Amino acid sequence: MPEKRWPVAGGRWPVKCATRSYRALASGIWHLILPPLFAVACLAQSPAELLNNPAVGAAMEAAKRNESKTLETQVRLCEIPAPPFHEEVRGRELQRLFGELGLKDVRTDRAGNVIGVRPGRAAHPNLVFSAHLDTVFPEGTDVKVKLDGEVLKGPGIGDDCRGLAVMLAVIGALNDGHVETPGTITFVADVGEEGLGDLRGMKSLFYESLKGQIDKFISVDGTGLGITHIGVGSNRYRVTFKGPGGHSFGAFGMANPIQAMGRAIAKIDAFEVPKQPKTTFNVGRVGGGTSVNAIPFEAWMEVDMRSSDPASLKALDDKFNAAVKQAVAEENQRWGNRGPVTAAAELVGVRPAGQTPKNSPIVQTALSVSRAMQIEEALREGSTDSNVPMNLGIPAITISGGGNGTGAHSLNEAFDPKDSWRGTQRALVLAIALAR
Ligand SMILES: [Zn+2]
Repeated sequence: MPEKRWPVAGGRWPVKCATRSYRALASGIWHLILPPLFAVACLAQSPAELLNNPAVGAAMEAAKRNESKTLETQVRLCEIPAPPFHEEVRGRELQRLFGELGLKDVRTDRAGNVIGVRPGRAAHPNLVFSAHLDTVFPEGTDVKVKLDGEVLKGPGIGDDCRGLAVMLAVIGALNDGHVETPGTITFVADVGEEGLGDLRGMKSLFYESLKGQIDKFISVDGTGLGITHIGVGSNRYRVTFKGPGGHSFGAFGMANPIQAMGRAIAKIDAFEVPKQPKTTFNVGRVGGGTSVNAIPFEAWMEVDMRSSDPASLKALDDKFNAAVKQAVAEENQRWGNRGPVTAAAELVGVRPAGQTPKNSPIVQTALSVSRAMQIEEALREGSTDSNVPMNLGIPAITISGGGNGTGAHSLNEAFDPKDSWRGTQRALVLAIALAR
């Protein structure tokens, strides 16, 4: 941590803006209608002012200058395997790097999240800045990164080794620019973002290790320059259908678990779901049975349902559970209740839904920082670490870390670093703009 730190115009402009606009409008009914618009305009202006701050400028220069080092870090971290539920080796490296960069109170929580604090002038607002450690790739996957021209190729190189590298670059640039923020930034390399990891890192962070201490949240995930402000929630089930089973000829006349499951799938397939917000369902995997000439004793299916609207997701979930029950009842009735079938639906994944509205200060700040840096507006919905804070009503967004990525979640994942420094710079400026 550097000795000398420059204060960054903490809390100055929003107050000034609000006063100015309010005074100008304090007559007629317009003062009832316009102030919200002006508040947004003020936020829109401020990041441009921020870019003119000498400390911020120095940090931005450092971020650009050090981009090749950032890419090296991205490759090095990516070559440390971090399969689902086994992020600890990569986590230890992040813990070491957090310490090396001068973060305070560096620790690993019970879930495996690596946490380090860069204190500001005050403890609050406390901005959590995160990137996820885990990948979708199982143990034993070859994670060696190969260079194809300028393009980096390796599983996880974009999702989310890019985010981890950007996070470290942001800390380094803040130090290089001697930037002092009014609020505090808590950096987190988190576990369990992908698949059946089920956001367990975020759940642990918000429900346990930093419960009640987080005011704002930003995570860097993947590539490009998008901003995710809608958190698509999901419920995932594994449903197991069971019966006594028997010989296909000799025991004919018994209820059949696979046929019961077929009835359930047919009902699910007929669901009508809202187009807005997009609400979806999918039977993704099925299995069961032992032989073509045996009535199976077991069958199973895995089902995924998603929506950014908690009420739509709940309604779909209710319909799904009713459909499974109904299918079992129909199957048993069809065969006069001989060898009746049962079904048990196990909830194997819950990603809470939520959103940070477009007109919220955090999204507006992200948009105006992007605009000031000539980055096109690209608002998205998705399922990311931000789902958890969004669901709790804590201002949260997920931004992409720059560069150009293809093939995420596949062994052919690639990262083209052309102008990737822009992603690093934007993440940096946003961290500064939000830590106030
Ligand atoms: Zn990711």
